[in-house]
Amino acid sequence: MHTTVGIIGGGPAGLLLARLLHNSGIDCVVLESRDRAYVEHRQRAGILEQSTVDVLRSSGAGERLDREGLVHDGIELRWDRKAHRIDFPSLTGGRRVWVYAQTEVCKDLIALQLKDGAPLLFEAQVLAVEGATANIKTGDRPVIRYTHEGQDKTLICDYVVGCDGFHGVARDAVPESIKKTYERVYPYSWFGILADVPPSSDELVYAHSPRGFALLSMRSPSVSRLYLQVPNGTDPADWSDERIWDELDARFAIDGDWTLERGPITSKGVLPMRSFVSEPMSYGRVFLAGDAAHIVPPTGAKGLNLAAADVIVLARAFANLKDTGSAELLDAYSDTCLKRVWRAEHFSYFMTSTLHTDPDQSAFETRLQISQLDRIASSPYAAAELAENYAGLHIG
Ligand SMILES: Cc1cc2nc3c(=O)[nH]c(=O)nc-3n(C[C@H](O)[C@H](O)[C@H](O)COP(=O)(O)OP(=O)(O)OC[C@H]3O[C@@H](n4cnc5c(N)ncnc54)[C@H](O)[C@@H]3O)c2cc1C
Repeated sequence: MHTTVGIIGGGPAGLLLARLLHNSGIDCVVLESRDRAYVEHRQRAGILEQSTVDVLRSSGAGERLDREGLVHDGIELRWDRKAHRIDFPSLTGGRRVWVYAQTEVCKDLIALQLKDGAPLLFEAQVLAVEGATANIKTGDRPVIRYTHEGQDKTLICDYVVGCDGFHGVARDAVPESIKKTYERVYPYSWFGILADVPPSSDELVYAHSPRGFALLSMRSPSVSRLYLQVPNGTDPADWSDERIWDELDARFAIDGDWTLERGPITSKGVLPMRSFVSEPMSYGRVFLAGDAAHIVPPTGAKGLNLAAADVIVLARAFANLKDTGSAELLDAYSDTCLKRVWRAEHFSYFMTSTLHTDPDQSAFETRLQISQLDRIASSPYAAAELAENYAGLHIG
């Protein structure tokens, strides 16, 4: 099999790239190791930035998002038993975010792809990428080796895009001699639950508390998504439903009227927190996009949005190559994306380290966190810095 762009991974990055390439008349094939049900039900991100929503709409995948997505104009921060709202549109010139689960984004993109898009193979496990620097003028091409339906197969491509997440194989195509990785593993995890109960707030609530961080989020008007900071290695089985709700109650507590509504918990999981960047994001004819190249802790709601931003830049570069013959934008891909990636890395680190309690944290460091939160509440400039990063920077 031969294609122009071989895409490894059918998560949000791979699926959106395939849609954008299809709309530009560029042929591609997506190889996804898991089955369709797994990809469509993997609980992950839930917040879409304005530019992610814009690209889903313009690519034809925005219909259900417009019908079912919840528009949010701000978030609430809580600390010291008080609450402060950050209003995005007034601080960012009209930008806002949408609550629409990653599972739904994937379902919408898969449905479109299977209806009229390029081939999307589930249960196609990629083993290796070869020939990143192949000279196609002499007939050489990069090759993706994979297994499908019990057979070893090859996909010959003009270009390969690794959208295969943090544990994927595409990053191995970049030689160790030129690859630089930057990493921070945080000394705590998120314990996330889904509960069949209407969210107790119209907007997300981020709580700093002496007991650790908590986040109130939602998936729909009837499903709440809540997170607790827990020690690394926490076993969800050690937490009864009652203990979870009691702990959430304690961390969200403020002076004044507010009740955390409880309901049946339908899912529990623990998520380690990591910041990670692998540079460069391209080598020869191989490009990396999304979690394959970078990871952020979810506190800033940036992971899915960064994945979308990467493939917007990449799809534009492939379209430019097709229309003009110029590889200039493709050559600039890694540098263009890394500027945005590092900004998002910093913002995610800032949100994480400002709101969580490090197990070794001193009283001095806690006072710095409180001082920073007070500053955001009292200065429109500090609030605007948070709002602009949260609602999403313009794509370069
Ligand atoms: C619990 C949780 C909460 C999160 N919350 C948020 C949030 O609120 N906002 C936000 O923006 N982000 C959030 N994120 C991050 C976000 O989910 C990821 O950044 C996003 O999934 C990245 O998309 P991706 O397509 O790059 O990678 P992935 O979603 O990881 O997709 C990679 C795909 O490649 C496939 N694959 C892997 N290896 C191979 C192989 N060898 N061969 C073939 N296929 C392969 C995988 O099966 C997968 O489908 C969260 C993540 C988690 C885990």
